[in-house]
Amino acid sequence: MQVLKEDNVYLWDKGVQKPPEGEFIKLNPDKSISVPDKPIIPFIEGDGIGPEITPAMIRVVNAAVDKAYGTSKKIVWVELLAGDKAEEKTGERLPQETLDFLKEAIVSIKGPLGTPVGKGVRSINSALRRAFDFYSAVRPVYWMGQPTPIPDPHRVDVVVFRENTDDVYAGVEFFSGTDEAKKVRDFLIKEMGAKESGFPEDVGITVKPMSEFKTKRHVRKALRYALETGRKNVAVIGKGNIMKATEGAFINWAFEVAQEPEFAGKVVTDPEAEPGEGQVKLSKVITDQMLMQLVLRPEAWDVIIAQNLNGDYVSDLAAALIGGPGFVPSGNIGDGYALFESTHGTAWDIAGKGIANPLSITLSGAMMLEYLGWKEAAERIYSAVKKTFEDRVGTPDVAAGFQRIGVDAKAVSTLEYAQEIVDRM
Ligand code: NAD
Repeated sequence: MQVLKEDNVYLWDKGVQKPPEGEFIKLNPDKSISVPDKPIIPFIEGDGIGPEITPAMIRVVNAAVDKAYGTSKKIVWVELLAGDKAEEKTGERLPQETLDFLKEAIVSIKGPLGTPVGKGVRSINSALRRAFDFYSAVRPVYWMGQPTPIPDPHRVDVVVFRENTDDVYAGVEFFSGTDEAKKVRDFLIKEMGAKESGFPEDVGITVKPMSEFKTKRHVRKALRYALETGRKNVAVIGKGNIMKATEGAFINWAFEVAQEPEFAGKVVTDPEAEPGEGQVKLSKVITDQMLMQLVLRPEAWDVIIAQNLNGDYVSDLAAALIGGPGFVPSGNIGDGYALFESTHGTAWDIAGKGIANPLSITLSGAMMLEYLGWKEAAERIYSAVKKTFEDRVGTPDVAAGFQRIGVDAKAVSTLEYAQEIVDRM
């Protein structure tokens, strides 16, 4: 049974079921999606500030869809439980009914979910990633007028594609002093020709796996995105000079993908050549070089293809350039399945005060609209958010950012800010 909260928002109530209106998005055999005019989109409110920022996002997205399409299109929102609220209501942090509904709905959005420390609780975010094989984490980083730590943030407009299923996150670790570490050390020295100098007796070992299949599907997604959106300069990064079997291989596999028939004539790999109309250029850049370039000449790159760990570093540095993760949306994308989410955490220190900045999840909502093919609605959100910055209005963190650079700004609550955005559509 569910309760209708607003016109098109169905809240969880002792369970979840298909609402009386709306249709599920369809996943086609080629892994593309078919979106009905009234798609059912599940949302997970999130912990901490989640109950404040998620309704703000829904208000903004609803208004944008309404302004762009009138009554011809509408999202039917359905609440699913995960995290603290799920534990409280069902005894489980990630109930099976949530997973089942997400599977039917294909595309969804969520607020931040905390992972309780020291209770042996596994991260729900990782469980969701694994359950739906969201193999690319996509983070567009662009400036919309907010206060920033650099004087010329308009130069930053880059989309980071971080591989989401591989690398040390999928690896295995052996702590110094354990029997396991000793066993692995012995094997490496005695059977694999590793030098003792690199593996002293007190060594701890982390194994970093990287697979051709996982790399190539991720690279294809990034190249397709660059071609579809007219982004020209694509970099594949890595420390291939040091980790040849993993990051070096990742870079080589990326260049192999560029040679596949799908990309013939579309991906330029000659370092001296310039990409023409309908083409992108793929370059390789060492990770530390990329970190420097993002600060010194961010305009050089439109898309960055990264492994899981490097992607983590690079996306946070890029986000910091335009004011921090609170201004950056994020999408976890697999074969058709997609889960959009705020990039920051649960922010318990400000939860319940009504002052959390809803922009990250709201821009993730706009990114979701683009994913649905509803670009006009997404554009409404982008231009309205820009206007709020022009008018110097935002949540207290934004107002404080403006004040730091000597500009007066008006601080409003989370929901008031959502309304300020809606008023500028
Ligand atoms: P955090 O992002 O929650 O907070 C860091 C600081 O940023 C805090 O001072 C907080 O008040 C501020 N902040 C964050 N979001 C804000 C917003 N929207 N508006 C205004 N200020 C904001 O990071 P943390 O403290 O490292 O993590 C807390 C919890 O969140 C942890 O349990 C972590 O696992 C989880 N987390 C979840 C996700 C996710 O669900 N995707 C991502 C990151 C962290």
